[in-house]
Amino acid sequence: YTNEMLLEVESQSRNEGFARMVVAGFVAQLDPTIEEIADIKTAVSEAVTNAIIHGYNNGKGKIKVYCKICNHEVYIEVQDSGVGIEDIEKAMEPLYTTRPELERSGMGFAFMEAFMDDLEVISKAGEGTIVKMKK
Ligand code: ATP
Ligand code: MG
Repeated sequence: YTNEMLLEVESQSRNEGFARMVVAGFVAQLDPTIEEIADIKTAVSEAVTNAIIHGYNNGKGKIKVYCKICNHEVYIEVQDSGVGIEDIEKAMEPLYTTRPELERSGMGFAFMEAFMDDLEVISKAGEGTIVKMKK
């Protein structure tokens, strides 16, 4: 079977927890293990946090979180229309961050990669970013 949902929220840090809970609630229909739910929540948190602090530089904007269940697989997309990423390959390297002054550790993409089965980042400078994940 298939099922899908789309959430759009303002880019505000309080919505990071909200988006994470919505996705966790949506995927609950698959009877995931506690560990699977924890992995998905972490990955969504990291992607939404990136949209807020990097994509929109903590300013105004909209973030879309799309989630699709297809048989026993979960597809998640987190999209922002912010500044975009100049060098995606570099951005995805563990420990690479453009905001060390904000005490970021550069591990967000590494966590998404570790906790999900598939990670794809599509981005264009000046247009925004889409993070696609599968589990
Ligand atoms: P941490 O996630 O550990 O707090 P971080 O956010 O800097 O630190 P990553 O999540 O791995 O580390 O992201 C690496 C870099 O990719 C960021 O420093 C930023 O430059 C860029 N980046 C990530 N997501 C976005 C986004 N949505 N829009 C623009 N740039 C992004
Ligand atoms: Mg991050």
